[in-house]
Amino acid sequence: MDMKYVQTTCPYCGTGCSLNLVVKDGKVVDTAPYHRSPVNEGKLCPKGTYAHEFVNREDRLTTPLIKKDGKFVEATWEEANALIAKKFKSYTPDECAVLSSARTSNEDNYALMKFARGAIKTRHIDHCARLCHASTVAGLAASFGSGAMTNSILDIAESKCVFIIGSNTFEQHPLIGRKVMQAKKAGAKIIYVDPRLTATGKQADLFMQFKSGSDVAVLNCIMGEIIRNGWEDKDWVQNRAKGYDELKATVLQDAYLPENVETLSGIPADKLRTAAEWIGTAESCALLYSMGITQHTCGVDNVKSTANLQMLTGNIGRRGGGVNALRGQNNVQGACDMGALPVVFTAYQKVIDPVAHKKFEDAWAFPDGIAAAQNGYEVTVMMDVLTDNPGELKAMYIMGENPFLSDPDIHHVEHAFENLEFVVVQDIFLTETAQHADVVLPATCYAEKDGTQTSTERRVQMWRTAQAPPGQAKLDWKIIADVAAAMGYADQFAWETSEDVFNEMASLTPSYAGMTYERLNKPEALHWPCPTKEHPGTPVLHIDKCSHPDGMGVMHAIEWKPPAEVPDEEYPFILTTGRCIWHWHTGSMTRRSSTLANEVKTGWIEINPEDAAALGIKDKEMIKAISRRGEVEVPAKVTPDIMKGVMFMPFHFAECAANFLTNNALDPIAKIPEYKACSVKVEKIQEA
Ligand code: SF4
Repeated sequence: MDMKYVQTTCPYCGTGCSLNLVVKDGKVVDTAPYHRSPVNEGKLCPKGTYAHEFVNREDRLTTPLIKKDGKFVEATWEEANALIAKKFKSYTPDECAVLSSARTSNEDNYALMKFARGAIKTRHIDHCARLCHASTVAGLAASFGSGAMTNSILDIAESKCVFIIGSNTFEQHPLIGRKVMQAKKAGAKIIYVDPRLTATGKQADLFMQFKSGSDVAVLNCIMGEIIRNGWEDKDWVQNRAKGYDELKATVLQDAYLPENVETLSGIPADKLRTAAEWIGTAESCALLYSMGITQHTCGVDNVKSTANLQMLTGNIGRRGGGVNALRGQNNVQGACDMGALPVVFTAYQKVIDPVAHKKFEDAWAFPDGIAAAQNGYEVTVMMDVLTDNPGELKAMYIMGENPFLSDPDIHHVEHAFENLEFVVVQDIFLTETAQHADVVLPATCYAEKDGTQTSTERRVQMWRTAQAPPGQAKLDWKIIADVAAAMGYADQFAWETSEDVFNEMASLTPSYAGMTYERLNKPEALHWPCPTKEHPGTPVLHIDKCSHPDGMGVMHAIEWKPPAEVPDEEYPFILTTGRCIWHWHTGSMTRRSSTLANEVKTGWIEINPEDAAALGIKDKEMIKAISRRGEVEVPAKVTPDIMKGVMFMPFHFAECAANFLTNNALDPIAKIPEYKACSVKVEKIQEA
């Protein structure tokens, strides 16, 4: 028997834990601890522990598929590539759109970004960061000049106070939750704000249960109390920030007094005062947030408000402080860094900047140029364009995304795809979206490739090949390179290894310029920015100055706005959505992992006991949840952990998909949908 351990990085959440894959006779059969990573020190959550179980599933895609007469038939790579090349060459660039993937490597994302802009020449490229943290990129960039988590995961354990709002950290990022517990054990106070008493809330010293959508009011209230009590960091606001006077005038308004915010948010005024005191007087305070902050029509405002609070208290550029935006997917930070967005090349170099445009055009050397120096459509806007202006977009190339489950208002997505003439999906399983494709291409999973991914803390870490791909499956960047070659661009995609792709990317990407596979090949890897080969990387941003050209942080005076849809007589409850510890996103991997799937077999809707009693609904009873956009049948979970008037559904489960109900109203800047607040009613299912 041949057996080996291959150290790699977990393919699930943005924490970026390291683990060993156990390989027996050439096949991945188990995971084992890898103790040298400072992020997780050998520990794993359930998803990481069972990250081997989906790898060799029998339903992995192993050969290209072409749909003929409504049915998929197996095809050769040559047939599939020729068809894709012919089709995409038959459309104008603006008729084509590309969705990249936060699940795949930096190399794969860079290759697809280059393919979109260079081979197809479309400006319409985006990925699922639009659905989770687009508000972070826009909000933190406006505040600090850089749209990423400011501090490191290790920093959290050093905090004297941890303020968590809109993040069920213990279930979404369990190994970051471990750092929160290390801080607590060292004496830190933990403050938690959420509509649900989650696993995270149960460890908090102060739990503030609030109505989804009242975040800005709560943050303004806390800032008002800090200023009234003189707890602000006067040196920081005078010397490092702009906009303090306007912020102060806004947060000191009567509307944000604790008693008034109690009425709006449901949080008792004394708890708001306690939170302000703990945050305002702590030696350091780490603010952690996730999609509870970002997935709103005021998502950018919410993010800017978290930045305001941390600047006000001097917790920017400070160990144990920071705005710690916890990114959901393993490589959502990297996919953004790689320019899989409609407005930037790598490292946020703007596509409308003539200097950046020329830099990439010259470096890539496509004989017929690259996409115009114009911003493209966000994925949410692509869906609206498809439904509202049929014929404008005609073809879509999708790598590792599953909009038929992940996007808001699934009936809207179905309608959008009906208006596409040609769809290519490259993935590892026949997902809900792949089933709607014209061509499906079999890709490799994390266990079958070398490459890099960038975790939530900007740490760039390696994936390492543990086994050969199944059947004819190929590396994602190699699939893209071969399609590009079929389109006549072999020279521009003539990479032989993942390292070749990385080196080309790094040569065009200032924040990754000092990184090489050799330098990344160590347990602690490197945090970007790492601009030179000698640079040690940057775990904490903004220590002496922010990333704006003048070095200043920018405070924004923000007023609270209600969600796009608020409860009324017909739809009297707020619905919010999220994850559970056992599953990840659309479940394409975790629901194919037998241990995880057995633990949590299907979805549910959480209902407060008082609401359930009023409706005559019993625990575990199948009920119907209905919004203005759709309805689903789903088991009720009657629990006091959810606030009265609010309901919660996890979004992993196709058979009771929460996104049939959610609202695709968008933040006007980030174009992120409001998954975290829409209005629903629930009904008992009538016997036939
Ligand atoms: Fe994987 Fe995240 Fe769990 Fe770590 S915390 S093992 S990265 S899913």
